[in-house]
Amino acid sequence: MTVYKQLADLIFPEITETIEDLEKRYPERDLPEGAMVTRFAPSPTGFLHTGSLFASMTSRKFAKQSGGVFFIRLEDTDQKREVAGSGDSLISQLQTFGVTPDEGYLGTDKEIGNYGPYVQSARADIYKVVIKYMLENNMAYPCFCTPEELSKMREAQNANKENFGYYAHYAKCSTLTPEEAIERIKNGESYVIRFRSLGDYHNKVAIDDAIRGHIEMAENDQHIVIYKSDGLPTYHFAHLVDDHFMHTTHVTRGEEWMPSLPIHIELFNSMKWTAPTYAHLPVIMKLDNGNRRKLSKRKDLEAAVSFFLEQGYPIEGFMEYLYTIANSNYEAWRDENPTADKDEFKFTFEKMSLDGALFDLAKVQNLCKEKLGHMNTLEFSEAATTWAKEYSPELLKLIEKDPAYFSQIVGIEREKENPRKDYEKFSDILPLIKFFYNEYYDEMVKELVFPENLSSDTIKKVLSEYVKVFDLELSEEDWFAQMKEVAISCGFAANAKEYKKNKEAFLGHVGDVAAILRLTVSLRAQSPNLYIVMKILGKEEVTRRINNILTK
Ligand code: GLU
Repeated sequence: MTVYKQLADLIFPEITETIEDLEKRYPERDLPEGAMVTRFAPSPTGFLHTGSLFASMTSRKFAKQSGGVFFIRLEDTDQKREVAGSGDSLISQLQTFGVTPDEGYLGTDKEIGNYGPYVQSARADIYKVVIKYMLENNMAYPCFCTPEELSKMREAQNANKENFGYYAHYAKCSTLTPEEAIERIKNGESYVIRFRSLGDYHNKVAIDDAIRGHIEMAENDQHIVIYKSDGLPTYHFAHLVDDHFMHTTHVTRGEEWMPSLPIHIELFNSMKWTAPTYAHLPVIMKLDNGNRRKLSKRKDLEAAVSFFLEQGYPIEGFMEYLYTIANSNYEAWRDENPTADKDEFKFTFEKMSLDGALFDLAKVQNLCKEKLGHMNTLEFSEAATTWAKEYSPELLKLIEKDPAYFSQIVGIEREKENPRKDYEKFSDILPLIKFFYNEYYDEMVKELVFPENLSSDTIKKVLSEYVKVFDLELSEEDWFAQMKEVAISCGFAANAKEYKKNKEAFLGHVGDVAAILRLTVSLRAQSPNLYIVMKILGKEEVTRRINNILTK
């Protein structure tokens, strides 16, 4: 038995499986030629970032359109940074946006697929098999450096203006003999395990990124920690093992991982495993006072996916937007195929932007307005109800009191070729429709002020005449004619043109009468079609509202 094997056995006596065993347990996937296996690998450290939704949507899309597999893996090896419950909420938010995996982590204690476990903390033994192999082959070694020694090293590097890290002559423990290491372990010294890098920072490594093309970067020379004293691997090493045994073909991840590529390439090469194709996705940027900067969790509400959910932006509108920033030819395709399912469009890596995708909230809002405008009344009411259940008890109360009434209100001028586009998000509904409900109307009416050009005598006259005659059984045209008659009888011109010709002769024109009625009934200077509004409220309620103003 070699001393390296003795060292490996001393560290991992319980590990008897070999790499071959793992290869058998996780065989090649049986997929058609060209099918991509992609993944989203979030860490449960907080909320779902808009950039992560973008990345996961993109990964899924590439897998689905190629007949492959998209899976989710929870990367929880940094347990200090873990935020309780965030794994579950990530999954439920992804689901809301339709980013559902074929395989993998589905929330606490839930997963599907034959390549698991899909939570890294449950894979400790798998990592150990590979680390044991590396120790046996002198590709890794225990490192006993204390935090104090490491910080001294850092100070020296700082003073010498050298690269930071554990490399070359700084990699002190890399020169320990296995015998020395065995002795120190037996003496109870604590240690981590490091990868023995054979790279040289002065050499270049060539990499083909599916989005960025051919690039050259400095070779890795860092002896990175692969196994921590808490028994878990580090991210870089877990990526090697997981994406190998899960047979990931394409690693689509944020471009913030680019600098780590030389490490990953060296790890794959050292194991003689084929590295996946890397596709580093553009980071989502924001225009801030004319300058481009990354969408920031601290500064930008729209950096958190929860913002869009809470505000009630329609999922389809938001996803439509993400498609437009994913591929530069998507919008042109959409113009030619306005009603097609967005997934008929195929993403390509070539059409992804290289220098950051600019996030444009105004465009999201426009697309969402379009989507909401084109929903039919049933779809809209259902989607609004689903949203209200989660985010607005106040709106939900109104809906549940009388769902049919709510549908009538949000159905105004819908299902037409050019529908009204009142709402850009579900949170717009309540403020816009409150006036239909008496409990709100009766409070808000206290604040009502009519425009200054209309005297209270004029208003009284119009309202008292109108309330005597108005008839909501009439057709819209006749209803309007009736309002006009009231206007004329009260001394208003029949139209604006006539009024302009001889302002002295009139109190105003029929538009002013409509404005008085609109304000009285809806408390708003602008409202949807007044005839329909009155019909929905009903004769009795319109009468009550008019009389209420008259008594003031
Ligand atoms: N867990 C890493 C993250 O949180 C994933 C990086 C990768 O996709 O390789 O971003």
